[in-house]
Amino acid sequence: MKMDAIELVYLLSAALFIIGLKRLQSPATARRGNQLAALGMLLAVAATLFLQEILSPVEMIGGLAAGGLIGLVLARRVRMTAMPELVAAFNGFGGLASALVAGAEIARFADQSESPEFSTLLTILLSILIGTVTFAGSFVAFGKLSGRISGNPVSFSGMRWITLAVALGCIAAMVWAHLSADVTQLSTAVMVLGAIALLLGLQFVLPIGGADMPVVVALLNSMSGLAAAATGFVLSNTALIVSGALVGASGLILTNIMCVAMNRSLLNVLMGGFGSESSDVEAAPKLEGRPITSTTADDTAILLSYAQKVIIVPGYGLAVAQAQHQVRELAELLQERGVEVKYAVHPVAGRMPGHMNVLLAEANVPYDQLFEMDEINHEFETTDVALIVGANDVVNPAARTDRSSPIYGMPVLNVDASRAVVVLKRSMRPGYSGVQNALFFASNTRMLFGDAKDSVTALIGEVKAV
Ligand code: NDP
Repeated sequence: MKMDAIELVYLLSAALFIIGLKRLQSPATARRGNQLAALGMLLAVAATLFLQEILSPVEMIGGLAAGGLIGLVLARRVRMTAMPELVAAFNGFGGLASALVAGAEIARFADQSESPEFSTLLTILLSILIGTVTFAGSFVAFGKLSGRISGNPVSFSGMRWITLAVALGCIAAMVWAHLSADVTQLSTAVMVLGAIALLLGLQFVLPIGGADMPVVVALLNSMSGLAAAATGFVLSNTALIVSGALVGASGLILTNIMCVAMNRSLLNVLMGGFGSESSDVEAAPKLEGRPITSTTADDTAILLSYAQKVIIVPGYGLAVAQAQHQVRELAELLQERGVEVKYAVHPVAGRMPGHMNVLLAEANVPYDQLFEMDEINHEFETTDVALIVGANDVVNPAARTDRSSPIYGMPVLNVDASRAVVVLKRSMRPGYSGVQNALFFASNTRMLFGDAKDSVTALIGEVKAV
């Protein structure tokens, strides 16, 4: 009877996870989707703890309150640009939790002097392997993203062979665990597996450049889901299997979307070397020497005010400058003057999937003014002004035309087709890919240098004065 009730709650949780994921597809429903999925998780945790009487009610409520409080403080305090590193840390803890739960199962078998069946042992070992690799890899990713460790790819000759040897070491430890004569030997083999897997996690992420970390974080997110699903099999816990499988699948889909949007294979990302910390400084400015046209806020305000159609293209610089509220205000001012204003959102603008959507939603930009690349790309030809706010790579025409460019083949927003392009950025420094942008040197482009928030604030003042 009690088990039936638990399974029923798990079924409800699974339904809430799936409805929640479905609602994440659109910015208009994403907030509610997130709440539904969180409710599903709360129900699953509560059913596991309360109905199985694992802890006393006071301990459970205390644990939930402490965890909830930490989550609340973290979520409220984290800067939007630091979101990928927060997700990396969450993934790391998820992987560690799965590995620890699987390790506790081994300890339980040791207590009872029993040996697990082959299928149980295999899932325990997989859970420890994937969970520990995820833990170590995620904390390297966290360190690189937060600048605590160098973002440069760490590699030396023979590194790949060492990684291969470490991976083989993991397999050897798993075979040893399977062949162990008794539970004491099994426990030792499992501890050795954990230690080698820790090394494998470090080896996996260290050679990858800091700028590629968001893709790695999406992959590690998928791995943390797989580790949780494996732990679900160990514990015969349906909720854990379902939620782990959903995280595993969605993380993998997200990794693929990011790779496709950057026109790079996952292997190319994992082989590292792209977007290292130094790349933006070392970028070969082969366009250097060509003239650029810089402009002022009052000239740009006149251009915008007398335009019929303006498309705003946000990029990573918008997040750095936190200029989203000012951008919305400027758009509203222009709309009041009868200008048609739309926003063009590239799938990998910023540093995490959906980065621009989240920022613009925070500033209450109406969803119906946001357009994805494929929906809006044909409209630039009929646009008077494309206003680029801190975007760079996602508007680089070389991705379409220059076969020698590292970003050749990456789908980009065709802003260069607009009658006029105004680029808001602080300098001529390149963006994430370290590649100089031919757009800045085009005859229809004007550069408005400065921090995006300051520039847009100045534009607001000037448009009001026109
Ligand atoms: P970019 O990184 O190409 O360029 C951002 C630009 O913003 C820089 O050139 C910088 O120029 C400018 N900038 C920075 N701070 C400010 C500021 N305070 N005010 C004004 N401008 C500022 O960004 P994009 O969004 O165009 O492209 C994203 C890149 O990130 C792509 O290459 C994508 O592949 C990659 N990427 C995206 C991921 C995602 O999921 N979204 C994940 C991994 C990688 P300056 O310093 O001169 O101001």
